[in-house]
Amino acid sequence: MKIIDIQEKTFSISSDIKNAYISFAKMDCSVVAIKTDIKINGENVVGYGFHSNGRYAVSELLTKRFIPRLNEANEKDLLNDEGNNFSPEKISKVLMQNEKPGGHGERSTAVGTLDMAVWDIVSKIEQVPLYEYLAKKYGNGEFTNKIFVYAAGGYYYPGKDIPLLLDEMKGYLDLGFTTVKMKIGGAPLKDDLKRIESVLKLVGDGKNLCVDANGRFDLKTAIEYGAAIEPYNLKWYEEAGDPLDYELNSELSKTYKNGLATGENLFSIQDSRNLIRYGGMRKDIDWLQFDCSLSYGLVEYLKTLKMMKENNWSSTRVIPHGGHQISCNIAAGLNLGGNEIYPSLFQPFGGFPDSSLVENSQVTFPKFIGMGYEKKEKLNTLFKKLFN
Ligand SMILES: [Mg+2]
Repeated sequence: MKIIDIQEKTFSISSDIKNAYISFAKMDCSVVAIKTDIKINGENVVGYGFHSNGRYAVSELLTKRFIPRLNEANEKDLLNDEGNNFSPEKISKVLMQNEKPGGHGERSTAVGTLDMAVWDIVSKIEQVPLYEYLAKKYGNGEFTNKIFVYAAGGYYYPGKDIPLLLDEMKGYLDLGFTTVKMKIGGAPLKDDLKRIESVLKLVGDGKNLCVDANGRFDLKTAIEYGAAIEPYNLKWYEEAGDPLDYELNSELSKTYKNGLATGENLFSIQDSRNLIRYGGMRKDIDWLQFDCSLSYGLVEYLKTLKMMKENNWSSTRVIPHGGHQISCNIAAGLNLGGNEIYPSLFQPFGGFPDSSLVENSQVTFPKFIGMGYEKKEKLNTLFKKLFN
């Protein structure tokens, strides 16, 4: 049992959207295919991986450092003890050899991209959906094919006025989402409040709306925005300040009484643990958004979930960033609170199989094997095109 080929491609996911911090005009991502010598129904098992939007392609890290480590590894160093499947944990060790601790940079994205493909392979070899494999091997055995999802969007577009924002949000409601998320912090507070109030009228209740400042605010602004939006009783107020400014988050949590959310830009268990230790996050009302594709993958994510448990945090407080199928699987197999989805952005990545049903912001998956990519036609077609 061995890996016979690994390819990396860069794919553009550029668009003219902006959040409070960045433009997506030059956004791209790395996509990998790992081909094995295992054949099922006459076809080699191939696993696919990519990473979330918001971080650029990591081609050089992949092609110069991490892919060569996998190619040069001994076969037994990649397999489980029984020798009947690949071991994501052992592969993670191979990838991380000779890497110093700390300073995670974007190597965590490169490793997360390869890790995604490895879990696709492992669950395809087992011939089960990844969520079932996760529940049985790493969870309490219980899994579901139905999870909470919310529609993320509401970016700033050039010249985008409130009617266009509402059209976008109406589109999400028509798709079966009841909870939506919009950006804030890219316009003056008074304009953002108008945007929020108009979307609130559409979604009916604060519990159906999240707002995301993308780390834009200093403490004073974060508190000002918090005071202004608190009466709306929103589902959450996301990334008010810099992701690594735990004190800011902690101070904000003392003045803002509704839910805060953060964590998408913390790329290691150590950073996530610091958020839990020092960020003032409240176990009963706040949300954690760690994104495995950006943070060394699911092997690291399992450690993060264990760390949360040791700190008496429920896995249901995690709703990952990124909108991709590995997080759908983690949510369904390891009892997370749900997953983010970008119905109109960054496609064909993310989302879920085409025939999934979305009702009341709950998605029900059809039967699939592995990550579920083969049931998402546009993504499957893109993989075939990139790697043939
Ligand atoms: Mg965000």
